[in-house]
Amino acid sequence: MMTQSSNAPAGHDGARRLGNYNYAILNIAALVREFETAGRPVTSLNIGDPTLYGFEPPSQLTEACIAALKQGRHSYTPSCGIPVAREAISRDAAKRAVCVSDEEVIITSGATEAADLLCTALLNPGDEVLCPAPGYPLYSALVSRQEARNVPYRLDPANGWLPVPAEIERLMTPKTRLLVIINPNNPTGALYPPSLLAEIAEIARRHRIVCLADEVYRKLIFGGVHYPFASFAGNDLPVFTLESLSKNFMAPGWRTGWMTMANSALVPGLRRALQKLAEARVCAAATPQFAIPAALSLGNEYLLPVMEKLKRQRDLTVAMINGIEGLWCSCPQGAFYVMAKADPVTYAFGSDEEFIVELLRKKQILFVHGSGFGMEAREGYFRIVYLPDTALLEKVFHDLADFLRHHRHHSSITLKSTTRS
Ligand code: PLP
Repeated sequence: MMTQSSNAPAGHDGARRLGNYNYAILNIAALVREFETAGRPVTSLNIGDPTLYGFEPPSQLTEACIAALKQGRHSYTPSCGIPVAREAISRDAAKRAVCVSDEEVIITSGATEAADLLCTALLNPGDEVLCPAPGYPLYSALVSRQEARNVPYRLDPANGWLPVPAEIERLMTPKTRLLVIINPNNPTGALYPPSLLAEIAEIARRHRIVCLADEVYRKLIFGGVHYPFASFAGNDLPVFTLESLSKNFMAPGWRTGWMTMANSALVPGLRRALQKLAEARVCAAATPQFAIPAALSLGNEYLLPVMEKLKRQRDLTVAMINGIEGLWCSCPQGAFYVMAKADPVTYAFGSDEEFIVELLRKKQILFVHGSGFGMEAREGYFRIVYLPDTALLEKVFHDLADFLRHHRHHSSITLKSTTRS
């Protein structure tokens, strides 16, 4: 642990507002390093990086980057991104009934920077932000960094992890500044139906709340249709949509994403603040911006083998988890995560994190505890990344069943079925 020596400069303890700035997914990774240094390799099912498990960006994207480099495109780009990419993004949005001009597009260093820019441009201390629980922890972290307040709205596990619009409305106050919607959702993989999105948009419109739609998994869906939230914005609801090359195009390390701003004319002050922030950080990395037009001109052919493989892995995961007594999960419709529950009545753990750490110690398997996504620690939820192939997943779930056998309150558990559906 770092200690401050007596001659250290005063007031350098780190900003107080970072006290609540936590990111559980990476925090646990520090524990893994400890095990690996001790020569005990860990099967990490905690980070949603498809490239760690053999998925690759489509070759057209890589070729576009190489071409840009060969053509000597080494300069800074305009702060909001290169015009051809902004144009490709607005054109792609129009195809999905989202109306944004090229000027309403900012290219960013991943969706993460887009979220950061929006929260920084919008929020004052004490403002309230409605975030899904469970939900990707970036949002609660950014909100707390602005000294604003995260107000969780619950996704209902008994109803496919969908939000309840009436609850969202009940939680709105005069201090509410932003409503965050993640669709498909991380960590649950839920895909929201259009009627639900329309209802939520109507509530936000009634209360004049700006919306952030995180759609970084929008292409990774199993059979259903993804409806962009901004397609319900009409001409009177500002919706900031986040996308990136990270998941939909399997290039997370390129750190390239974007934000589209539907109806930004309704919030001119926010628009100016975003422009100022975008200019202050110069621009996103130039090279991968040249891959954006290539990405958005692809059909879905590159996705077919990806989704087939993911579907086999999802089906195995859902079948095996539900085959272990005292474990439960619903069947996700998108992304590559399953939110599972270890019934606290069946298993003796003090908290979900204790369960995760104990599993890591005993079996060198790593999931993320549900409280890292805003669930109650005692509920026993944990998130599984099902990116590895079925052989590895099968081994992991057998080891998990074996581990749980020793942590049952009463009698022993059995693996009921490992059938693939
Ligand atoms: N939004 C969600 C819901 C995510 O799960 C992630 C990454 O896991 C991100 C945003 C960050 O995406 P990017 O790599 O584009 O910054």
